[in-house]
Amino acid sequence: MQEELKQLEQKSQLRSLHETTILENGWILRDGKKMLNLASNDYLGLSERFNKTNVTELIEEEEPISSSLRFGSTASRLIVGNDPIYREFETQFASFKGTEDCLVFSSGYMANVGVISSIIGRKDVVFSDRLNHASIIDGIILSRAENKRYRHRDVEHLEYLLKKVDLNQKKLIVTDSIFSMDGSVAPLKQLVELKNKYGAMLMVDEAHSGGIYGMKGQGLVHALGLTDEVDILMGTFSKAYGCYGAYIAGDSILIQYLMNKARSFIFTTALPPINIAAIKQNWCRVKSENWRQKLLLEKSAWFKQQLQSRGFNIGESESQIIPLIVGDNKKTMEFSTLLQEKGVAAVAIRPPTVPEDTARIRFTIMSSHQDEDLKKVIEYIDEVGECLKVKK
Ligand code: PMP
Repeated sequence: MQEELKQLEQKSQLRSLHETTILENGWILRDGKKMLNLASNDYLGLSERFNKTNVTELIEEEEPISSSLRFGSTASRLIVGNDPIYREFETQFASFKGTEDCLVFSSGYMANVGVISSIIGRKDVVFSDRLNHASIIDGIILSRAENKRYRHRDVEHLEYLLKKVDLNQKKLIVTDSIFSMDGSVAPLKQLVELKNKYGAMLMVDEAHSGGIYGMKGQGLVHALGLTDEVDILMGTFSKAYGCYGAYIAGDSILIQYLMNKARSFIFTTALPPINIAAIKQNWCRVKSENWRQKLLLEKSAWFKQQLQSRGFNIGESESQIIPLIVGDNKKTMEFSTLLQEKGVAAVAIRPPTVPEDTARIRFTIMSSHQDEDLKKVIEYIDEVGECLKVKK
């Protein structure tokens, strides 16, 4: 282990933990230093909301539904952990997503691993975008299905791979809707066409689009009118919803199947009922206060335009996730350290999280970021980029 850690250090790939306290308006204390947070998934700033007053409100609101808003759910949902708050929430959330049913999982990671490993197996084939999230990749490995990776967002490559597989084999196409390290958007309409043409199932991970896109934050699939065409809709409550937990939405038969087959649902203690109550509170804000989504998208568009006009490479970002691609690991680390010295929490993302030679600073925008703070950040990025000769 020591040897491997040393090797990671030599490649500038060694990771470590930094103590972080979340403050207001996108600010944090990181190792005791105040910084503007450009590395958070709390896109709508909703994780900041809980304090003594609103926790009391939350408990009062939910008490009629949940007999006791416990932190410990005491067992798996299938044993004695199924507090009434779950099905009440799942039914309402499915109707919001426009699907027959929905099932809560403890986290997005567990949802992806559990779903993929249960719906496909050894004799099946899965087609996965090369830049899909690690939890999708781990689900595929667990499933033991044949894994065919297609080039990022390349539908021609996907079709080439689909053509080579026996028509009768069970097939799953799986994609992120917004890619977590690139901010690029999946070609969902074309994926639907291909899934229909080749008789495959389609699964979309809406971790980074849920709560943001669509009239009320139902996600990108809903916004494009494709809900009925996607067999498995996955999303998480840990990002725009500012909480923790995840869901799978789809037909009733899928949900019943997962209750019986998804091992990461069956063999784990249910999320605390108080966690579901918190999700419900933030979901209300996601649905009814869509000024946050609007602000987020406006601020993200401005930030991207500023970086591009200064000659930085932001890849194919079309969302609130904005990579500044540096390439070299060491230089990326230096970039991130210099920004942190200036009070900007901007995190370096290196291989193996991203492909070799594409190390980057991954900026994520929050609706609660103040314009004057973002302007300062752009100035700092410009100075550091100039100094390290990172511009195109
Ligand atoms: N899918 C994607 C695309 C993600 O980016 C993430 C989290 N980084 C997950 C799934 C896992 O979600 P969670 O953090 O809720 O486990």
